[in-house]
Amino acid sequence: MACQQFDLVADHLEIPEAERGRLKYPKRSMTVALPIHLDNGTTAVFSGYRVQHHLTLGPTKGGLRYHPDVMLGEVAALAMWMSWKCALTGLPYGGAKGGIACDPNKLSKSELERLTRRYTQEMIPFIGPQVDVMAPDLGTNEQIMAWMMDTYSMHEGHAVPSIVTGKPVGLGGSLGRREATGRGVGYLVNRATDALGLDMNKCRTVIQGYGNVGSVAAFSLARNGAKIIAVSDVNGGIHNSNGLDLWKLEKHIAENKTVAGFPESEPVTNEQLLLLPCEILVPAALERQITEANAAKIKCRILAEAANGPTTPEADVILNQRPEVFIIPDILCNAGGVVVSYFEWVQDLQSFFWGETEVVDKLFRILETAWTQILNLSRKQKIPMRLAAMSLGVKRVQEAKKVRGLFP
Ligand code: NAD
Repeated sequence: MACQQFDLVADHLEIPEAERGRLKYPKRSMTVALPIHLDNGTTAVFSGYRVQHHLTLGPTKGGLRYHPDVMLGEVAALAMWMSWKCALTGLPYGGAKGGIACDPNKLSKSELERLTRRYTQEMIPFIGPQVDVMAPDLGTNEQIMAWMMDTYSMHEGHAVPSIVTGKPVGLGGSLGRREATGRGVGYLVNRATDALGLDMNKCRTVIQGYGNVGSVAAFSLARNGAKIIAVSDVNGGIHNSNGLDLWKLEKHIAENKTVAGFPESEPVTNEQLLLLPCEILVPAALERQITEANAAKIKCRILAEAANGPTTPEADVILNQRPEVFIIPDILCNAGGVVVSYFEWVQDLQSFFWGETEVVDKLFRILETAWTQILNLSRKQKIPMRLAAMSLGVKRVQEAKKVRGLFP
């Protein structure tokens, strides 16, 4: 998917064949075997991955994912998207992504800690605050980042908070980092409703994946007047056409660890949920959810891609024939996370920390600039929002590579 999208952009930008390979192939791809002791006394070996896409503009930056389906190809695609996302928002980073093929829900806390520390140890030759900086993604959180920071710091002999972002605030994390991605989604959906002349108070919203990003986006959109009518997680979805009470849902999740079974709602599968009539549809879970099979059937006005890669290139072809569906492409829609990760890294390097208002204000300013540039380009060249966003990102990396030249 990432390569297909890149080829389309490269054709659009008329990038010479000789330059395409440099932009496309990842600089470093690592696979590591991670043996750990399980609580039952046996030993298990997990597979870990890290892909650093390009190192032209600074260190690489990208999340770490714990999910059973993680594999090198997926991580490489996610790393490439991170490169365009960072370039698009003007961050001095290349893209990276990492992951461990595991089900974090089936591991105890101590097993997760041993796995995280072993992965960090294996990655030490390839990471560093000026080399590659990790962050949370699907299935990972602040605690995982704290263990990574500790493992790296023990190796260095002093505390190195800038080795990861998305840490607990007490360890050098940034205020507003946990909420940043979902908050950014809320901000950009708001801008899209303005652009389309939609009244937020009349917007029914459906969210697939009620995790960190999905839940924060839900509260952010609800605060702006939208009605959240359906949400889901890995166990299934819930639907109430009169709107879900998000505070009651929070209590239900705290007690049951899932949205499924929420009393004031009807159950709905993840597949059905994507087809519910609504104004705002937010996929916030996994890749490849909007496909050739359902792209013609989704019934939203705004498709806000909070997840990475939720729409396949085949689905894009169908959606490009449906001008009534406005797409906020993933590399813009979920960029809030990496922008505040960048703020966290900057704060750690200078050991000087900002208040939350300053963080949110700076975040919205960066998103506003990117939003305006992409919307203008899309309208001016009459191209889809995804192509506009990717063009901006790819062009910046291409120009940087050109002026740096080819070593040796
Ligand atoms: P998370 O682990 O906090 O939440 C993921 C949610 O998706 C959970 O509710 C999980 O149950 C649900 N889910 C998993 N498999 C599912 C399935 N098959 N169907 C429906 N729901 C399913 O992860 P997150 O940090 O919220 O990340 C969500 C998405 O956002 C990912 O695609 C991630 O790459 C992207 N993203 C996250 C950040 C960030 O800052 N956390 C930044 C940019 C992009």
